[in-house]
Amino acid sequence: MIMKIENLNFIYNPNTPFEKRALDNISLEIEQGEFIGLIGHTGSGKSTLVQHLNGLLKPTSGKIIIDGVNITEKEANLKEIRQKVGLVFQYPEHQLFEETIYKDIAFGPKNLGLNEEEVKARVKEAMELVGLDYEELKDRSPFELSGGQKRRVAIAGVLAMKPKILVLDEPTAGLDPRGRDEILGEIQQLYDKENMTIILVSHSMEDIAKLVNRILVMHRGKVVIDGKTRDVFKRANELEGLGLGVPQITKFMMKLKERDNSIRDTILTVEEAKEEILEYLRRKKDA
Ligand code: ADP
Repeated sequence: MIMKIENLNFIYNPNTPFEKRALDNISLEIEQGEFIGLIGHTGSGKSTLVQHLNGLLKPTSGKIIIDGVNITEKEANLKEIRQKVGLVFQYPEHQLFEETIYKDIAFGPKNLGLNEEEVKARVKEAMELVGLDYEELKDRSPFELSGGQKRRVAIAGVLAMKPKILVLDEPTAGLDPRGRDEILGEIQQLYDKENMTIILVSHSMEDIAKLVNRILVMHRGKVVIDGKTRDVFKRANELEGLGLGVPQITKFMMKLKERDNSIRDTILTVEEAKEEILEYLRRKKDA
């Protein structure tokens, strides 16, 4: 097990008129190599939870153990936490600040006290992982890049820390369809090649359905549903009750299934739908 969360509670502005319970007794375990989708209505507590995972917020009570280390202890070392959990914020490109792409990605590893050789190797590797050409781009300014490329530089900066767990908060927000597909492709490849443990926060049920193998649904500070992707999307009515949905294609195929029950349960992607519809037509023809 790579992460264990035990009875985690968090209250903003305790003992003031603005007191707000944002996390309500969350307990869960995550195994090495899981790809988790964290979903929930705005205000359900996703970003509060995510900020606990890399030590930005300290719990009101409860603990988080990552890779055997209790990161919620007072004495926990922030550097060590950042090496365990890489957090890619929403619009991470807003945090780029160095004059070259190399320097930006090298910032974290340098702070770890690695020597120049090691730093260089990490920058190179991180750029390769997100599909950026090292020789071509290392001396360029990050500010000359397209939105999608800037975001990749920001993600490379987190990967260069070699975290055990990668947390991505809305990584496709604000990108055009091509930029979205590229980033999602890179994330999928990271998962396939590096066997990383990934937590993806997203409002896009399409993205979640395409990528993750387990879904956590948050509602009012609690994790109210935790299950395999297909099992969770089967519960379409419940999700709608929580202000969430299922992918368009899943909904469409559910409608089709109402007409013909031989259609398979819970289709998640357009690819799956295509195969299922072809099968369906074949069956019709043979009948
Ligand atoms: P999500 O990421 O799912 O939109 P958040 O974790 O941002 O949810 O918010 C959870 C709850 O905590 C919400 O009710 C929100 O209004 C409240 N909240 C978030 N940030 C703060 C803050 N800095 N001060 C007070 N309340 C906050």
